[in-house]
Amino acid sequence: MSTMMRAARVTAFGQPLTISQIPVPEPGPGEVLVKVMACGVCHTDLHAADGDWPVKPSLPFTPGHEAAGIVAALGPGVTELAVGDAVGVVWLHDACMHCEHCRTGWETLCESQHNTGYSCDGGFADYVIAAAPFVARLPKDADLAALAPILCAGVTSYKGLKETEARPGEWVAISGCGGLGHLAIQYARAMGLRVVALDLSEEKLAAALREGAEAAINAGAADAVDQVKAITGGGAHGVLVTAVSRSAFGQALQFVRRHGTISLVGMPPGDFATPIFDVVLKRITLRGSIVGSRQDLAEAVAFAVQGKVHAEITRAPLSDINRIFEELKAGTVNGRYVLDFTLPDAAAVQTEVEVAAA
Ligand code: NAD
Ligand code: ZN
Repeated sequence: MSTMMRAARVTAFGQPLTISQIPVPEPGPGEVLVKVMACGVCHTDLHAADGDWPVKPSLPFTPGHEAAGIVAALGPGVTELAVGDAVGVVWLHDACMHCEHCRTGWETLCESQHNTGYSCDGGFADYVIAAAPFVARLPKDADLAALAPILCAGVTSYKGLKETEARPGEWVAISGCGGLGHLAIQYARAMGLRVVALDLSEEKLAAALREGAEAAINAGAADAVDQVKAITGGGAHGVLVTAVSRSAFGQALQFVRRHGTISLVGMPPGDFATPIFDVVLKRITLRGSIVGSRQDLAEAVAFAVQGKVHAEITRAPLSDINRIFEELKAGTVNGRYVLDFTLPDAAAVQTEVEVAAA
């Protein structure tokens, strides 16, 4: 095995990533080294590279938290995985396992957690380090590129839907039909929910109908709220907001049903106005939802392996990452881009030292 690898590195916020040669990391105790076969590109990677959020990653770093690959080496003490196992490396790199949140199946809220592609290097690289207890188990013969989006977009949508507490036969409104949303529609259907989808892109709305939404509404239409209310007979029981737009959050408050719950999942920087009167009198629950626990992840993967949800992917080489980020910013990505490390990639690669000197 070569001691150097390719990695798409963020060296400055808001600047294009650099494809660098950096050393292959070594797995420490309890860790495994994973050879990345495919890594989905999540809008969170773009927020990370732009330094959008209050807590920023330290530079330089490698984004990517939808990495599907093969265990290449075991660190000391790892017994639950073997070299050759197919695994997914996810946002929740690790958690303390001892705090109140970890003890109660809410390891996603652990204050000592690390995050792949944010506080530790991620999957936009030939190899990534994972903590053995936190990987997703994937079938050996699976198309890893097809499963990669399940590792964040899938589990996050699935958990966010559970968090709406909508029951089979009830309506969920899914606002934002991008990487997360196009899977959320399918999870919702598989969970017995009725779906009304909202986006600004007519192309994505057409896809939403193919993916199982009963209605697809342009969120920018003047009567979008009235349309949702009419279709759902008074408002959606649950709302999942994956849109990268603050206005979508305020809009959700207008079409949620009385007694309904809104799961906030999209993370555009900033805040939105919450009308106290409406929230109180309609007994609305507003709830944040962050990825999913290891159990949620196993369930989300199982839906995909059983063919109940299917990510719409476009494969691209690692060197396309900056073009993909531009498209995500413009809102023109249909489904999910997946960096496919089995594709030939002729792009020039620099060492990190050369990049620093340039
Ligand atoms: P994406 O760019 O693929 O999709 C976003 C979609 O929102 C696009 O289809 C866009 O057209 C649509 N949109 C924009 N404005 C809208 C509006 N006003 N109304 C309705 N739709 C609108 O992004 P993604 O990868 O699906 O990620 C979505 C968001 O979710 C990002 O902010 C990301 O950081 C966040 N995220 C959160 C979690 C979590 O655990 N909470 C996990 C993953 C991603
Ligand atoms: Zn993500």
